[in-house]
Amino acid sequence: MKSENKRKKEKTLTTHAGRPIADNQNSLTAGPRGPLLAQDFQLFEKLAHFNRERIPERIVHAKGAGGFGTFTVTNDITKYTKAKVFSEIGKKTSIVARFSTVAGEKGSADTVRDVRGFAVKFYTEDGNWDMVGNNTPVFFVRDPFKFMDFIHSQKREPDTNLRSDTMQWDFWSLSPETLHQVTILFSDRGIPYGFTHMNGYSSHTYSFINDKDERFWVKFHFKTMQGIKNFKQAEADEIAGTNPDWATQDLFNRIEEAEFPKWKVHVQIMPEMEAEEYEWNPFDLTKVWPHKDYPLIEVGIMELNKNPSNYFADIEQAAFAPANVVPGISFSPDKMLQARIFAYTDAHRYRLGVNYEILPVNRPKVEVHSYNRDGFMRHDGNYGNTVNYEPNSFGGPKENPEFKEPPLKISGDADRYGQPIVDADFIQPGNLYRLMPSEEQKRLIENIVRSLKKAPIEIQKRMITLFSKADINYGQGVAKGLGL
Ligand code: NDP
Repeated sequence: MKSENKRKKEKTLTTHAGRPIADNQNSLTAGPRGPLLAQDFQLFEKLAHFNRERIPERIVHAKGAGGFGTFTVTNDITKYTKAKVFSEIGKKTSIVARFSTVAGEKGSADTVRDVRGFAVKFYTEDGNWDMVGNNTPVFFVRDPFKFMDFIHSQKREPDTNLRSDTMQWDFWSLSPETLHQVTILFSDRGIPYGFTHMNGYSSHTYSFINDKDERFWVKFHFKTMQGIKNFKQAEADEIAGTNPDWATQDLFNRIEEAEFPKWKVHVQIMPEMEAEEYEWNPFDLTKVWPHKDYPLIEVGIMELNKNPSNYFADIEQAAFAPANVVPGISFSPDKMLQARIFAYTDAHRYRLGVNYEILPVNRPKVEVHSYNRDGFMRHDGNYGNTVNYEPNSFGGPKENPEFKEPPLKISGDADRYGQPIVDADFIQPGNLYRLMPSEEQKRLIENIVRSLKKAPIEIQKRMITLFSKADINYGQGVAKGLGL
């Protein structure tokens, strides 16, 4: 923060109720030696507010940084979607973005090996569209039932309160669908050089709906225009000790110095019916759609060009939710996405309160009309004296069938379907291993060995079997590194 910015015209200090304060240095006491007087409500207001400064941190993605900017359309994709954000080339939409590590707490180091969150809120004419992705195109699990257990394995042990390589590898070795994401995590891209030299991916499959009511499945890719750059493990370890906020500072400084970071936004598009026959389940979050089958189509450019003026108000309170889609963009059957539609809004209601959408950073730029009322921290007038039920005879807001989505064909028996691990689960992790230059393969194996060697031998052996299924050289490399 530039100290010159802080030197503004002097104003009189007041209490929260607006009463001018005469002395902000000395408590009210009975005599110069004390004790304090209970009527010093200015002191108690200060103490009480201070005690309540922290809100619950996010359980995941607690440490983050972000900024404001614009999304500009560079290519016409209106044959796939009627979303107004894409309606014409040159159209600009304002955005807020937040990047984060996943497992660490709010004060943890930025340069750790971890997935990075990549969340963007587009303030569109039809309300907010949130793209709540990661810097990886896939995720560890594909069924939300496993998500909480997975995160526990990444967090702290119940007894020691330490993070544990054993917990992580135990979970991964018993959940082979994680292998694709594990391979990305331990590759060079597991420690990006700050937040601006990494890609962002929706990871999930979403849907587009065009003005003829045709549905397409879509994946979003945000490719860094700064170029992919990563830290080596040793560099990252050193920076974690000397400047744990390295990525936060780097992002702030770049924007402050007008080196505005940019990402080229692309989509992969699959016509609705192709999902039935495609060799990969397009709704399986542990899989990508290979580019040769579904090439990237350019859509626009995202640029960050304004820093937050108050971190807490603009970034800590920013609430992104996959539930926030707009006409022309919608969901898919992806089970993880379906769970996140509920879980993110639920997390915000817990963390920020039921009225979190009316906080300035979350408030849509369009008018909001709703029959929801009241709740903690309702600070926007609460719709005044307007009618608060529907149907009504007093001109309250009404539904508009124009925004109805085409029906989605669903079939099948309701059941808890297992997740048989099939050979196909090892093809994409193997493809990733095989596309890495040999030096990167070597570093991948070194990174894995450094961590896996701390786990018990039976877990090491289970992992070697999985790596070998992806690529025999991958498995043998890890086995050799572990001395097995
Ligand atoms: P392609 O050769 O067309 O694409 C390879 C992709 O791999 C590129 O997008 C490249 O990103 C990315 N990549 C390179 N190194 C790494 C790394 N260390 N970690 C993560 N991604 C990396 O092949 P396919 O589309 O057939 O995909 C092959 C494999 O590439 C997949 O199994 C998957 O693991 C990975 N991948 C695929 C993506 C997709 O959407 N198809 C997206 C990202 C990764 P860049 O162009 O930025 O260098």
